Amino acid sequence: MAKLYFRYGAMNSGKSTAMLQAAYNYEERGQQVLLAKPSIDTRGDRGIVSRLGVTRDVDFVVAPEDDVYSTFERERARVRQSTGLDVSCLLVDEAQFLTESQVDDLLRIAIIEAVPVLAYGIRTDFQTVAFPGSRRLLEIAHSLEELKTICRCGRKAVFNARKIDGEFVFDGDQVAIDGAEVTYESLCGACYLDESGGVLNSGRNRVLATPAEVAYGSGPDADFA
Ligand SMILES: [Zn+2]
Repeated sequence: MAKLYFRYGAMNSGKSTAMLQAAYNYEERGQQVLLAKPSIDTRGDRGIVSRLGVTRDVDFVVAPEDDVYSTFERERARVRQSTGLDVSCLLVDEAQFLTESQVDDLLRIAIIEAVPVLAYGIRTDFQTVAFPGSRRLLEIAHSLEELKTICRCGRKAVFNARKIDGEFVFDGDQVAIDGAEVTYESLCGACYLDESGGVLNSGRNRVLATPAEVAYGSGPDADFA
């Protein structure tokens, strides 16, 4: 049975690079793949931009109202017609921006169409809240795999703190408006709480204690080998 995989990580954890590598691995064996991404990601239009400088265009872009299942079927038919080969894998970049029903379609594609689906994305937004697509993927994916990156302190980064003009900001829309000087820094939980003054989820959850030492102590992060 084919499976739906969710490979998630903080920003700068090399998700796009890993996805392009996975596509390459299939193609090296003479297999066909389809690449897709949501249209809300405007960084490269149709392009998948890896931090290592590798870029590649997706086969189709998914708009918020799009039916991913039927779009996949159409693209699959196109590949069959042009190459005589079936699609061996669907790879989805920036999957956090899919809608929940589009993620449901990914599971249907894996199970009903027997095509593995590899979805790559960020788990949570700058306020530590799951993106809708990521939440659904965490709920229904057969396999979850974390792609790791390092915080400035050397621990594993799990959160994505937003900066505007170089200053940390903890309020605002989930998806920042293009054009503003918005950047992100991947932080561990301790550094995030240090910067936010102990606030998670924009203060909607009660602050139990202030930062670092409570959760982590001063020992090494055993989860990041
Ligand atoms: Zn840190």
